[in-house]
Amino acid sequence: MSDAKIIDGKAFAAAMRGRVAAQVAALKAADGLTPGLAVVLVGEDPASQVYVRNKGKQTVEAGMNSWEHRMPADVGQDAVLAKVAELNADAAVHGILVQLPLPAQVDEAAVINAVDPAKDVDGFHVINTGRLATGQDALAPCTPLGCLMLLRDTLGDMSGAEALVVGRSNIVGKPMALLLLGENCTVTVAHSRTRDLAGACRRADILVAAVGRAEMIRGDWIKPGATVIDVGINRIPKDGGKTRLVGDVAFDEARHVAGAITPVPGGVGPMTIACLLSNTVRAACRQRGVAVPEAG
Ligand code: NDP
Repeated sequence: MSDAKIIDGKAFAAAMRGRVAAQVAALKAADGLTPGLAVVLVGEDPASQVYVRNKGKQTVEAGMNSWEHRMPADVGQDAVLAKVAELNADAAVHGILVQLPLPAQVDEAAVINAVDPAKDVDGFHVINTGRLATGQDALAPCTPLGCLMLLRDTLGDMSGAEALVVGRSNIVGKPMALLLLGENCTVTVAHSRTRDLAGACRRADILVAAVGRAEMIRGDWIKPGATVIDVGINRIPKDGGKTRLVGDVAFDEARHVAGAITPVPGGVGPMTIACLLSNTVRAACRQRGVAVPEAG
């Protein structure tokens, strides 16, 4: 079998951000509407700071308003809820994102569910997860939405395909399974208690790995010709005391078996912010009562 097509998420996300910027320009001109995204960052977690900085930068580059609200690591839950309430009430803010994880003293679910569902551009509120689960129009979580866009672009119609999602988190695995069900795939969800994970992988036409274990899924677990979407981001040591990023799939093995595969980095990663921007435009349109552009 010839080598897999490498799915270029970096290029796809850049094109998507370009389309979002064009939508924003049109909304400004026709409706005087500038979509705005507010991000709440609690504490000093270095990875979260990088994510939030990138989100802010790309929001501004797309022509939208961006606000960053920083709170100290020892902040109380009431103060976080008060901040969310303030942003819910601000008509210029169309999207609210509370960067996770939150410190232990703050109840993550309580904060997520305090966000106005119409402004929940992360798609984590129970209203949006419920809408997604029942097939209603929803703001879908950004990372699985990004995976879906790459799959649609690679495969087109996915009806009847055997899809395996490895991982069942609320952020990636579960919503990914629901989105694939919406594409008429036959969906299996695997997790840490799954027996014979390798066997389940070998049956999958579409394999989405969202585990957080470096190169756990080996090349000989992949069905020849399958489409592999690797969500994992794992930092492992390399020579010279430095580190490098790898996915949950052993890419150098899998690329000789799969039909198409996302690399790490440069695959799913860049899609998350592109989908966040797209969700913010969609949320702004709904709040203003103007036509909502297609996602992506
Ligand atoms: P979680 O830790 O919340 O979930 C991991 C899932 O993997 C769990 O459901 C767990 O099962 C399952 N799992 C763990 N070990 C095994 C195993 N040995 N066999 C089968 N399943 C296993 O992670 P997330 O969903 O938040 O993230 C997954 C990965 O995706 C991480 O590497 C993360 O960094 C990355 N990520 C990337 C994003 C991006 O590209 N922008 C965004 C979000 C995440 P169980 O439920 O039984 O414990």
